[in-house]
Amino acid sequence: MIKIQKLVRPHMKRITPYASARNIYKGGDFELMDANENPFGMYNRYPDPTQDKLKAALSRIKKVPPEKIFLGNGSDEIIDLLIRLFCEPGQDKVLAFTPTYGMYKVCAEINNIKMIEEPLSSDFQISTPALHERFNDTSIKICFICSPNNPTGNSINGKDLKYILRTFKGVVVIDEAYIDFSSKASMIKYLQQYPQLVVLQTLSKAYGMAGLRIGMAYNHGEIIQLLNKIKAPYNISDVNQKQAIAILNAFKNNPSTKVIIRERKRLKSALSKNGSIKYIYPSEANFLLCKVNDASSIFQFLLDNGVVIRDRSNEIPNTVRISVGKPEANNKIIDLLKAYNETESTIS
Ligand SMILES: *Cc1c(COP(=O)(O)O)cnc(C)c1O
Repeated sequence: MIKIQKLVRPHMKRITPYASARNIYKGGDFELMDANENPFGMYNRYPDPTQDKLKAALSRIKKVPPEKIFLGNGSDEIIDLLIRLFCEPGQDKVLAFTPTYGMYKVCAEINNIKMIEEPLSSDFQISTPALHERFNDTSIKICFICSPNNPTGNSINGKDLKYILRTFKGVVVIDEAYIDFSSKASMIKYLQQYPQLVVLQTLSKAYGMAGLRIGMAYNHGEIIQLLNKIKAPYNISDVNQKQAIAILNAFKNNPSTKVIIRERKRLKSALSKNGSIKYIYPSEANFLLCKVNDASSIFQFLLDNGVVIRDRSNEIPNTVRISVGKPEANNKIIDLLKAYNETESTIS
């Protein structure tokens, strides 16, 4: 069993967290004269620092007890907090499998932490034999795995995730931002077995609340307590907590996810008939990664016609990433790319 206390930066263990008065007097009918708030106004009170009601709503949906849930101002905040918790600047490292989500590297660099990039194979899977040597390097404190992966769209093989959980001696972060669009099960079921496992999810994608900035970390418990200790006391605003609770309590089974999965299939099938699209990678997410002849010209053509997509050529040569939209938007991009293909074929 991995000892979390041995992995944490020593000074983090000694920190006395900020004690907000609102932690103690929760929910009761008190005259609140403790926090120097203005007694007048609509947004005059500080938000719940431990987000109890929001955690309860998530707990019902995700079947994870509230004490195993940490909430961040987007999962991006949690990525930063994890790096700060475990990595000594200028000394420790993190590991990620590239191409992948850009924030791991950005957060690592901001904290003066080196990110080791282990390239994914041609089908964007992890080559486990190459990891043997990496895993002997005890300065690598966190291993980030994005599954389904952004920008490639595929899920990482479950046996490789389990291999890393069994073998790596540091914290294993599995970023499941797109899990609701995937046919694979969440790794949440391994929380009990592996205290070093942190599963990240978000309300930004399948739950349609990117504007509210709420991300979730699930863990056996010890890392949750440490994150609670170092987070900003009021990291999620009152308005955002209340909106998220209202939306989560209103939907029983996330209705837009089905539509997006259906549209992903329809968009893929229409675009695969287009001569300008050379290949569409298998997707378990809400976007399609497409290999094209000339990514920058497709990008510019769509932009000139009012549609923004993402050119991912810097990571994977001549690729663009298209997020699945509403049916009308998908029809628009299908038609525009048909027109683009007709001009491309006349020129060449
Ligand atoms: C979109 C995305 C997130 C979400 O980040 P938030 O800060 O919660 O909006 C996290 N991880 C990956 C891989 C993503 O693509």
